[in-house]
Amino acid sequence: MKKQMKIPLAKPYIGEEEVTEVTKVVKSGWLSIGPYLKKFEEGAAKFAGTKYAVAVNSGTSGLHLCVKAAGIKQGDEVITSPFSFIASSNPIIFEGGKPVFVDVDEKTYNMRPELIEEAITEKTKAILPVHIFGQSCEMDEIMKIAEEHDLKVIEDACESIGATYKGKKVGTFGESAVFAFYPNKQMTTGEGGVIVTDSEKVTKLSRSYRNQGRGEVEEWLDHVRIGYNFRMDEMSAAVGTVQMKRLPWMIKERQRIAETYNKKLGKIDGVITPHTAPHNTNTWFVYTIRVDEGINRDKAMEYLNKNGVASKPYFPSLHLQPIYKELLPYKEGDFPVSEAISKSILALPFFITLTNEEIEYVTEKVGEAVNSASKK
Ligand SMILES: *Cc1c(COP(=O)(O)O)cnc(C)c1O
Repeated sequence: MKKQMKIPLAKPYIGEEEVTEVTKVVKSGWLSIGPYLKKFEEGAAKFAGTKYAVAVNSGTSGLHLCVKAAGIKQGDEVITSPFSFIASSNPIIFEGGKPVFVDVDEKTYNMRPELIEEAITEKTKAILPVHIFGQSCEMDEIMKIAEEHDLKVIEDACESIGATYKGKKVGTFGESAVFAFYPNKQMTTGEGGVIVTDSEKVTKLSRSYRNQGRGEVEEWLDHVRIGYNFRMDEMSAAVGTVQMKRLPWMIKERQRIAETYNKKLGKIDGVITPHTAPHNTNTWFVYTIRVDEGINRDKAMEYLNKNGVASKPYFPSLHLQPIYKELLPYKEGDFPVSEAISKSILALPFFITLTNEEIEYVTEKVGEAVNSASKK
């Protein structure tokens, strides 16, 4: 019998240069609001292709500030996706707004523009598209609807830094957008996020809100609004500055591994590999497969786990989360496509130092898992 491997779901790529830079910061004693923050923001804006970038302590904080800067208030409705991580819709609720979900596309798992139009009411203030798993939403259609109905667009690009739609990068479509840098994302700062935008107003407001509501002179104890402490520290910014430089290469490596998985896993009966729309480039936040109806997903995951292959059911649909069932008027059956994806999907080990031997092992175990979890 072949030896058993143990392969985690995700692993950040940290090189010597990150260690060097972070050591410099720690030794300098300048640990917050310093030169690395500025450098990191410049790098982020340059990468995204936006005028401004505002770094914060998480993607969630970034989205919160974008929702705030968009003027979302008590009772306002924001149209978004139920197939996502809860951090995409919670910020709407932080501000007293209401997430209005629309169902997603069966292949890309992104929200369907046709359904957005139907969900618009006179309370609708914004659309918050979530570019899921590294792939852009249908931005031409979404931007057209937003223009026609005078709605703001806030892009949750937390999973899709570097992804393009018809050659244009995500993060450059809406009024504002956010990238996130938790250790399982395409690049990391430990915890962290960044708002990218061309809007001077969003930039000024976000800078103020992240720094206790200070006025224009940020060091001054002159508080002009109720703000937060959402600042990114210098250690994170130092790691991020190096990671941002590595990002184009890290994305290429993710694409290479995803293609290898696609080829190998695509041959297994009962496994549905991910679909990238032809006009999109995917930067692969996670690598997920779906199993077809004849296979018990949870049993397959159990088999994988027992054999040292980590997996996770990314994502359960948001409208069925216990707290959302309490707060929002949704129930099972409301978003059948999102629900069907949630029931059949699983994420597999995916990081750029994954070896060929490990990919081979995962493939073999997925094949065995699917067989052993057949409902027939
Ligand atoms: C990761 C993520 C976020 C932000 O998460 P943080 O952990 O706060 O950085 C937001 N939305 C989506 C869809 C995400 O995957």
